[in-house]
Amino acid sequence: MNDTLNIANGHLTIGGADCVELAKEYDTPLYVMDEGTVRRAVREFKASMDECYDGRGMVCYATKAFCCKEMCRIMKDEGIGLDTVSAGEIYTALSVGFPPERIVFTSNNKKDEEIAYAIDNHIGRITCDNMEELRRISAIASEKGRQVRVILRLKPGVEAHTFEAVMTGQIDSKFGFAIETGEALAAAKETAKLPGIDLAGIHCHIGSQIHDIAPFEKAAEVMAVFIAKLHDEGIEIKDLSLGGGFGIKYTEKDIPVPYGDYMKRVSKRLKECCEKYSLPVPFVMIEPGRSIAAPAGLTLYTVGSRKIIPGIRTYIGVDGGMCDDPRYALYKSEYTAVVANKADEPKDETVTIAGRTCESGDLIGENMPLQHAEAGDIIAVLATGAYNYSMASHYNRVPNAAVVMVKDGKSRVIVRRETWESMADNDV
Ligand SMILES: *Cc1c(COP(=O)(O)O)cnc(C)c1O
Repeated sequence: MNDTLNIANGHLTIGGADCVELAKEYDTPLYVMDEGTVRRAVREFKASMDECYDGRGMVCYATKAFCCKEMCRIMKDEGIGLDTVSAGEIYTALSVGFPPERIVFTSNNKKDEEIAYAIDNHIGRITCDNMEELRRISAIASEKGRQVRVILRLKPGVEAHTFEAVMTGQIDSKFGFAIETGEALAAAKETAKLPGIDLAGIHCHIGSQIHDIAPFEKAAEVMAVFIAKLHDEGIEIKDLSLGGGFGIKYTEKDIPVPYGDYMKRVSKRLKECCEKYSLPVPFVMIEPGRSIAAPAGLTLYTVGSRKIIPGIRTYIGVDGGMCDDPRYALYKSEYTAVVANKADEPKDETVTIAGRTCESGDLIGENMPLQHAEAGDIIAVLATGAYNYSMASHYNRVPNAAVVMVKDGKSRVIVRRETWESMADNDV
């Protein structure tokens, strides 16, 4: 699946650490992240971004994929930015000394207190989703005597082939202003007049887990044409954020595009458009989330039961499920699983991995090829580094699993396991 995974003495290893030993040491369910893989992905994006835009651009890790202090420390150390979606994420980043000017605050419904928090803490850019929000930002910034760098979130009208729930660039989406209806132009004109706001840029994000370059190229073109249109209206756009959404390999069916190829083709298209309209190439931002975090992670579970329904299916019951990974329940997302203590045995069974909560839909996957698994075995579900911990819930009052980071065979806890007590802490 990827180069961080290996097999040693029949056991699956990640970043040189034995998954069976990790399960023994830290208990299960357990999220494991490989630091080397995270950093490699960041560096790959950063290097191609620098190359394609002559250093005039910024990679912003979309923290919603997996936000915790250690991830923010790594991004700070790598010198990239963050694309955050809540004051909670901003707080986490600032708490490890992340430079506020490299933080972008993007969400479709910010509370006043979040806007004020972002302004008070000198967050570099706020991406704005709707007119009410823009007026509120203007009012709050003016009251504080501040000028806020704002980016407008637009719907470029580009459809990317992905799950409907994660498609965001088309007109019937809750996110942003539509270009084709004239809504975006009207919003830009009004925003340019609002006090306390410096209308610096435009933003789009067309979806997630996309394996094609063409929709990204198209989106860049649509955005460039719109920048030209704004230029004709006397509005100069300096920043262009092209969002995230780069696909990763969950199963053999996924064939991700090398990110450098994406960057080359999209930057080429963008530069051609800018040249055509005699406009300078804007400061470009991209916001990869999944592609940085997902491949670096896996989740370890202990098998509790094996239930054979003759002629129908075999359920392998594990000690986690939708409470730590709701993606199958939400989107029917497919994963690859391995019995970590039998990693060199053939996958000669087809099973359904069932979660522990009281929902029939609480599954990690159906029809999954797997080694023969029985009670006590450790199952690793691969590529769970994004949208797993960050989407975890307390359903059934199950404590959130711990997150362990491995590096060169050594491991350390980066998020402690919740306890029954810590879960009940806010109960009155
Ligand atoms: C979710 C999101 C991202 C990250 O998407 P990935 O598919 O994880 O790369 C980037 N930008 C915005 C605005 C988002 O909503």
